[in-house]
Amino acid sequence: MPLVNLGLVQPEVVIDISRADGPRDVSVADGFVTVGALITHARLALDPVAARWQPLLGAAARRIGNGRVRSRGTLGGSLAHSDPAAELPLVMVALGGVYSVTDGLRSREVKAEEFHLGFLTTQLAEDELVVSARVPALGPGWGWSFREVSRRHGDFALAAAAALVRMAGGVIVESRVAVGGVADRPVRLADGSVKRMQEILVQRVEIGSLTIRNVEASIVPDNTDMLLGMSVLAIGRFTIDRDANRLVFD
Ligand SMILES: Cc1cc2nc3c(=O)[nH]c(=O)nc-3n(C[C@H](O)[C@H](O)[C@H](O)COP(=O)(O)OP(=O)(O)OC[C@H]3O[C@@H](n4cnc5c(N)ncnc54)[C@H](O)[C@@H]3O)c2cc1C
Repeated sequence: MPLVNLGLVQPEVVIDISRADGPRDVSVADGFVTVGALITHARLALDPVAARWQPLLGAAARRIGNGRVRSRGTLGGSLAHSDPAAELPLVMVALGGVYSVTDGLRSREVKAEEFHLGFLTTQLAEDELVVSARVPALGPGWGWSFREVSRRHGDFALAAAAALVRMAGGVIVESRVAVGGVADRPVRLADGSVKRMQEILVQRVEIGSLTIRNVEASIVPDNTDMLLGMSVLAIGRFTIDRDANRLVFD
């Protein structure tokens, strides 16, 4: 629909699958959360199972467009459309999500990072549909954050970041951070980049107050390094309480 809305395509035939008999709920089993492709962004934003087991999903869904867009758009449509600034592909890449796709006869699984090939391009075949997406449930000790910058409320993000981190001994020991809107697809950051961000944050925290939120402005003075800057913003939602060796969420 975004392409039709923008007048970029004029399809002769449009098939409405919104009432098709397919998965549209959120379930959890064996440490994984599975989301049906037909779920709307509005439902995902409010889903209690997603909120309990993988809150990044709802946080991302809530940031999509406006109420009308969220009540029509679906997870499957967003993943297949593969806009580099879209919230749900970004979260899927951050979480190491796996998509289940089918042509009706055969099914296969594709990692999110391999599925999104570039601007509005995926490795979905013409006769395939996305059926569901699976992500790891939020484990104990992990914190999360979703941040985005857009011109106006409801606009596509200029840049967005999704972050999960686990702390031990006052440092980030595990992380999953991805950024959107800065390349032709969502980009997962290597652990080295995350360690560098940790250094920046700790330096700033030592100079300033313990609340990282207070030093965001000085960490990201301009957009020259949006990739790093957005990720720092996402991670920066945590306050590092080094004495207690834990993360405090705002
Ligand atoms: C004004 C406007 C603002 C928007 N703002 C945002 C935003 O801020 N962030 C954001 O992420 N998105 C945004 N969107 C996109 C929107 O939220 C939906 O994610 C997107 O339109 C997909 O909607 P849909 O599920 O109805 O799929 P459609 O728009 O109907 O389809 C999109 C593409 O996916 C294919 N498709 C649909 N479902 C499947 C499936 N299950 N399997 C395989 N292929 C499928 C279709 O054939 C089509 O090629 C915006 C859209 C509009 C019109």
